[in-house]
Amino acid sequence: MAKRPILILPDPILRRVAAPVSVVDEEVRRLAKDMLETMYEAPGIGLAAPQVGVSRRIVVCDVAVEEDAEPAPMVLVNPEIVAVSAEVAVYEEGCLSIPEYTEDVERPARVTVRYLDADGAPQEVVAEGLLATCLQHEIDHLDGVLFIDHLSRLKRERITKRFQKQARFA
Ligand code: ZN
Repeated sequence: MAKRPILILPDPILRRVAAPVSVVDEEVRRLAKDMLETMYEAPGIGLAAPQVGVSRRIVVCDVAVEEDAEPAPMVLVNPEIVAVSAEVAVYEEGCLSIPEYTEDVERPARVTVRYLDADGAPQEVVAEGLLATCLQHEIDHLDGVLFIDHLSRLKRERITKRFQKQARFA
């Protein structure tokens, strides 16, 4: 496995719509492993392929955040939200591509997600709690959407300008 560099706002790849994966092959599995390693190292609970510069529809996550919890890595290829609850939940979200910034985001409390696993087998998960938020956040990345897009225009513009300025001076 190899850690990969994480792209930071305003990198244009983060705003691209990622392409579906046609075959879940060894290359996809290697990328997913790299993404998990990168995510654990960061540390974070979710990572989407565009965040490591690969514009393909692959997401990894592990929401086993309690201190002595066993790791529970998930690999989701071509994930698709097929149902959402009317009930909403608010979580304080952050993003490895927008470091050191968190904000409350309201999203559906439960979602049903269809995807292919690392063996290419179709799966469906009904997610709630932190996993529901994490999957929605990561699947957004595949469509070039960032969690700041769910905030007020004022907040979004303020944080975007801050990162544009940092990128210029980097
Ligand atoms: Zn993110």
